[in-house]
Order: sequence, then structure tokens, then C-alpha cells
Amino acid sequence: MATINTNYQKLASGYLFPEIARRTSLWQKAHPGVPVLRLGIGNTTEALPEAVCEAMKEKIDSLSDRTTYTGYGDEQGDTYLREALVAYYQRYGVELQSTEFFVSDGAKSDAANIQDLFGEHNIVAIQDPAYPVYVDSNVVGGRTGLFNKEKGCYDGFVYLASTEENGFIPEPPKQKVDLLYLCSPNNPTGAVATYDQLKAFVDYARENKSVIIFDSAYSEYITEDGYPRSIYEVEGAKECAIEINSFSKFSGFTGVRLGWTIVPKALRCEDAQAGVLNAMWNRRQCTFFNGASNIAQKGGFAALSGAGYEQSRALVAYYLENARIIREGLSKVGLTVYGGVNSPYIWARTPNGMESWDFFDLLLDSCHVVVTPGGGFGPAGKNFVRVSSYGHREQVIKAMQMIEENLKI
Ligand SMILES: *Cc1c(COP(=O)(O)O)cnc(C)c1O
Repeated sequence: MATINTNYQKLASGYLFPEIARRTSLWQKAHPGVPVLRLGIGNTTEALPEAVCEAMKEKIDSLSDRTTYTGYGDEQGDTYLREALVAYYQRYGVELQSTEFFVSDGAKSDAANIQDLFGEHNIVAIQDPAYPVYVDSNVVGGRTGLFNKEKGCYDGFVYLASTEENGFIPEPPKQKVDLLYLCSPNNPTGAVATYDQLKAFVDYARENKSVIIFDSAYSEYITEDGYPRSIYEVEGAKECAIEINSFSKFSGFTGVRLGWTIVPKALRCEDAQAGVLNAMWNRRQCTFFNGASNIAQKGGFAALSGAGYEQSRALVAYYLENARIIREGLSKVGLTVYGGVNSPYIWARTPNGMESWDFFDLLLDSCHVVVTPGGGFGPAGKNFVRVSSYGHREQVIKAMQMIEENLKI
């Protein structure tokens, strides 16, 4: 008699992006032929860097010849790429070993799978609002109670509210928690943590033998000084933090698929000495994962240095210019906006305390612009929307024009 994992039944209905797609398509059916301007999902839109494409084409050529063909590679990723990642971190003064890197098919699956290393009774803290993967993976992993409809939260999670008052970077929790998910620069708020803010979390984690899962998918969007690109820039972080990153937002790999996770050898927790968690993740990847695409890995290697790096930086600069246009456009119509400087996301407060899904509907209906309702990322997002700078420049400009001309607030 097979039975299901009943934790799935706890998942709050309607994952955010399918619900946006549902509302958008309903609206389009009612307004045939009217173009919709999408600044919703954080999906890249511009061409891959040329040097990345060249490297991948070369790999395809070598695959098409039996004398140079390669099949399965190392589950942890190809050595040349792991060594290039070591060198990439050295630029920020971070010394890691190649055996601490695990190349993957993207940060999202790693962010979802990493909780598997930890016991079911760990107490999980997340920033509120948060990227939904941290939440849902721990719900399915059995670390929460039921979804509390009134509060808009899961019982059993510790929510660290990111608010205007704290600049959207919360302080470490007052109570003891075991796992802490942090994302900086943050999706969805666009806020970025300072060295001291990250240090407070690292100090907390070492004191409480907790583990931080640090998502740095947007590290290449940091344009201002004083913000760490890696949590390992903070002393002591190797003992208490796992870092997850990706080529998706840095080099346009959303469709190509490539990311990495760092599990330092020094990482430990209550019942695991240094080395144990690194060995566990290695074990997990070797049995549950067969390595990232060898074509994608050549592309990733090209993105990390030389022309590929310069072209990737130019891609990031393109989106950051979109972000500037959005920030200015929304400010002009009187909205209060945050983020968009060290991040591709603008976090805009809804006018007159409007609920975020209502503002979503209003923007779609009156301006034909799709954004992401903040409430979908957690209760602290209920009076905000996330506006994404991933879009063609002309679309972004058009969306701002539509908002300027048609938004009545
Ligand atoms: C886009 C994004 C990722 C990247 O996911 P991939 O699976 O590598 O494409 C990871 N974390 C956050 C917070 C993101 O927004």
C-alpha cells in the first residue's frame, strides 16, 4: 500500500508564478490583441555572451567526433571549472578548495535539495519575504506545521521580517534556530546586506551551532562598495555557512542551466565535525545527480574570465540600466521604491496600502504591465510588488510610459 508524502498537502495553494500566468492569460483572453508588458518573472531576456556561445559550440564539435567525445563527467563538476571557480573567489579574497565546490544544473535545485542534509526537527528561519524554494522545500521536508491562512505563514517556521524600518535586512532571530536562509542581494526586495549585517548572522550561527544557507545568485549585481559578494568574506563563515550561486543571472544561463554550491570542509553543526557535511553532500550528489551538462560547463568556464567575463558584466550592466529606468519611472508617478541599485529587482510599495494582488490587477488592467505581487513571497510582502528589470529595453521603456500615462493612484 503506497501512501503519499502528506507534507505536500501542507503547501499553500497556487505557487506564485503559475497564479500570475493564470491571471495574465485570463486578462489576455478578455483583451485579444492587446500586448502585455512583462516585468514579472525574473527570467533573463538578452542573448548569451558571444564568448560563452563560442565555448559551447566548440564543445559540441568535440562531442560530434568519437575521438574527442566525452560521456559522464565527475558528479561534482569538471575539475577545470571547479579550479576556475576557486580563482573567481580569490578575486574577493576568499580562499576555497576545489573539493569544496559542487557544480550543479542550477541554484534552484541545490537550494531545494540542501535541506536533505539536515534533520527533520531543525527549526528553520527565513527572511520574509523570501524566494519560495527555501520555504516549500522545508515544508515538503516536514519541518513545518500547517499553513496558517490568517497569518499567511507556516506554523513552525521563524520569519525574519524584512521591512522598511530595517532596510529589508532583518537582524538575527532572538530565539534559537538551526537553519537560516539568507539571500543577498535579495530576491525579491533588492536589498543587499553589509559586512556587519552578515557578520551578525555568522556570529549568531557560530554561537548557536546553526547553519546559514546563503544564496548569492545576484552577487554580480553589486555595484556599490562595502557589500560582500560572498558570505565567506566574513571571518568564520566557513564554519557555519553553505553558499549557493548560479550562472543564470550573471551570464544569462537561465535556459542553459549551471550553478554551484560550496560546502566548506570547515562546516560543522551540533552532531557533525568539520568535513562531515562536505562528505555528505558529495555522497548525495554522487548518488542522486549525474553531473551538469558538459556543454554548459564549458560555457560557464568561459564566463568566469577574459572576454566571457567582460561580456557577462556588460549583460549585468544592461539589466541594471533597465533597473534604473524602472526605479525612476516608478518614483516619477509617486511610488515609493527600494532596490534596483545592487540588484535587478525593484521593490515598490503599493499605493494607499493596497493589497499586492489588487495592485497587480490594477497594473495589468490599466497599464498592461505584469509585475510580481509581494504577498506571494511572504506576509511581509503584502503591500509591495516586485518589478523585474529582466526585459528588452524597449519593453521596459514602454512599460514605464504606460504606467506614467495610465496609473491613477
Ligand atoms: C534566479 C535565482 C536563482 C537561480 O536559479 P537557477 O536554478 O540557477 O536558474 C537562485 N536563487 C535566487 C534567489 C534566484 O532568484
